[in-house]
Order: sequence, then structure tokens, then C-alpha cells
Amino acid sequence: MFSTPKTIRLFGEGNTLAIEWADGHHSTYSYQYLRDRCPCATCTDPEPPPAWEAGPLPMFASGPLKPEKAELTGRYALQIYWSDGHSSGIYTFDYLRNLCPCTDCEAGRDKAQ
Ligand SMILES: [Zn+2]
Ligand SMILES: [Zn+2]
Repeated sequence: MFSTPKTIRLFGEGNTLAIEWADGHHSTYSYQYLRDRCPCATCTDPEPPPAWEAGPLPMFASGPLKPEKAELTGRYALQIYWSDGHSSGIYTFDYLRNLCPCTDCEAGRDKAQ
């Protein structure tokens, strides 16, 4: 399925990214939730770099994590630039729709499993 957002609000209420989809569905994602699911190669690497085991890096310690900006990548994805300088995660709309944390979508995912 090709998911299409109608509106994207990078700075939604309560530190969230809010998306209204073309089919009328609303999704809100907390920044931490999104960042934990960053799809880039670094973040999805099952072996964390040694520096992560040694303790938090300075770049992770500067205030609450939030997006600085986001850019559309083509017509199918959103690239998020985080306040700690991380920007290699490209969130496709299908991926974001699949991540929707609302109870309806979670119930749908449970059924699919
Ligand atoms: Zn990442
Ligand atoms: Zn949902």
C-alpha cells in the first residue's frame, strides 16, 4: 500500500510529529518513538558501536531530542534532521503509517500477526 500524507506537522503538540493521511487517519508520534525507530543503517545495526556501550555521547546529552527540520525525499519519504545532528534516517510514508501508535492500528497489527 502506498501511504500518502495530507498534512505533516513536524512540531505538533506535546513534542510529537503529527500526520494526517489522505484517507483521513491521524497519526501522532513522539519524537523519541520516531528516533528509536530510525530506519538508517547506523540505528538499525544490531551491533551497537563500542562508543554507545561506554556511555552516552556528548551529542546525546544536550537537552531533549527534537527534530530541527524535515525534508521531503521525493514523494514517498520524510528525512528528519534531529537536534543532535543525526539526519540519515529516511522515513518512508509506508513505514510511518506502519509505525502509527494509535490503538486502531495496533489492534490491526495484532490481528495480522
Ligand atoms: Zn538513524
Ligand atoms: Zn493509526
